[in-house]
Amino acid sequence: MSQPRIAVVGAGPGGLMCARVLQRHGIEVVVHEADAAVDARDAGGTLDLHADSGQIAMEDAGLAEAFHAVARPEGQAKARLDQHGTILSSFVPEDGDTAAPEIDRGALRALLAAHLAPDTVRWGHRLTAATPLAGGRHRLDFTDGTYEEADLVIGADGAWSRVRPLVSDAAPHYSGVSFLDARYEDVDRRHPGIARLVGDGHAFATDGQGRAVIGQRNADGVVRAYLALRTDLDWHARAGVDLHDTAAVRCFLLAEFADWAPELRAFLTDNDGDYVNRPLHALPAPLTWPHTPGVTLLGDAAHLMAPFGGFGANLALLDAAELAHALAEGPTLDAAVTRYEKAMWARTGELAVQANQALARFFAVDGRSDQGAPDHGAEHRRYRRAAAEYRAQAGQAGGRG
Ligand SMILES: Cc1cc2nc3c(=O)[nH]c(=O)nc-3n(C[C@H](O)[C@H](O)[C@H](O)COP(=O)(O)OP(=O)(O)OC[C@H]3O[C@@H](n4cnc5c(N)ncnc54)[C@H](O)[C@@H]3O)c2cc1C
Repeated sequence: MSQPRIAVVGAGPGGLMCARVLQRHGIEVVVHEADAAVDARDAGGTLDLHADSGQIAMEDAGLAEAFHAVARPEGQAKARLDQHGTILSSFVPEDGDTAAPEIDRGALRALLAAHLAPDTVRWGHRLTAATPLAGGRHRLDFTDGTYEEADLVIGADGAWSRVRPLVSDAAPHYSGVSFLDARYEDVDRRHPGIARLVGDGHAFATDGQGRAVIGQRNADGVVRAYLALRTDLDWHARAGVDLHDTAAVRCFLLAEFADWAPELRAFLTDNDGDYVNRPLHALPAPLTWPHTPGVTLLGDAAHLMAPFGGFGANLALLDAAELAHALAEGPTLDAAVTRYEKAMWARTGELAVQANQALARFFAVDGRSDQGAPDHGAEHRRYRRAAAEYRAQAGQAGGRG
């Protein structure tokens, strides 16, 4: 292929990974990102990178060592509790278990961005419209009044993708579950009760009635919690709660979690800073679209799913690496994108269905909530086995990266 203009929209984990692997293949790429800078906003909580997906992409990016240098294998620990604070089950990773170590989203974003050629990412460049031109080319318009033309547009712009409508009418629907994201700083000194419950990893507490507190250890002495409710999308308006009024949110949460143990209710009231409302949405799954020359999607733009199973960022990273390899292999943009889409749909469709079902089961309110913990040891063995199979297949196909 002779020097096609490739534009990635979105500098989340997927978009940055795609640009990094393209550049390792010597292919030029520009990434357009709405955020003003790599650290312009709190990127959110921690992610576990699975051996069979996110970690394979990090290897393809030549960043496996850099990832393991900052990742937290001890963060794989998990406990399940009921609303009384009784521990129902717990998992502590064995020494040397690196099947799914944790990394903060901000650290992952910074790591990927730091390994791109200078000026690859145009920060503060929000896409407003993508318009088809002749021959599979597209015109991209940005909020600052500038525009570009591209031979291939890669929509890595997340849940509310502006690129997706070029290929599909599908739109995210509300799952019926909302998270309030809360942070606790300097936890070991200032919030020792919360630090103890969360330990090195995660604590999942649920009452089996559509309420949950999911605490997770982040880097630098921070714990984050998702205070979760099965509720209407506009729950705050219906309850007359201003989300910026911390006292009002606390009062609402204390009433919702009235019969929960005091040590768990501390998560509702002891946070530092604002609560961030995160209603969970998902795309219809499995989602495919008629192949459209000059445009494709990856990550959440292609398969936004519930965060139960921790697949979203992992799949975004692997989609990105695979798309970049396909483009390097050619022989044409169109052939490469067609191959990528076929493999991506096969990999992600069923996982999206499973993730959405797992969320629905965990937050069931008919007394049949799934409070049982997955077998994390078996899960880790599965990741390792699938990683070995993936590498063997890639080797047979002639190697990559
Ligand atoms: C509460 C919660 C917890 C989660 N936990 C996990 C987990 O533990 N493990 C896991 O694997 N996944 C998890 N996920 C899912 C994960 O966050 C996503 O799947 C992942 O971030 C997808 O990456 P992406 O690069 O496709 O999109 P995003 O991370 O959404 O990045 C999209 C980027 O595009 C930019 N953008 C958007 N619109 C425009 C525009 N018009 N112009 C320019 N730029 C634009 C955005 O600013 C953003 O930087 C969780 C999600 C949620 C909501």
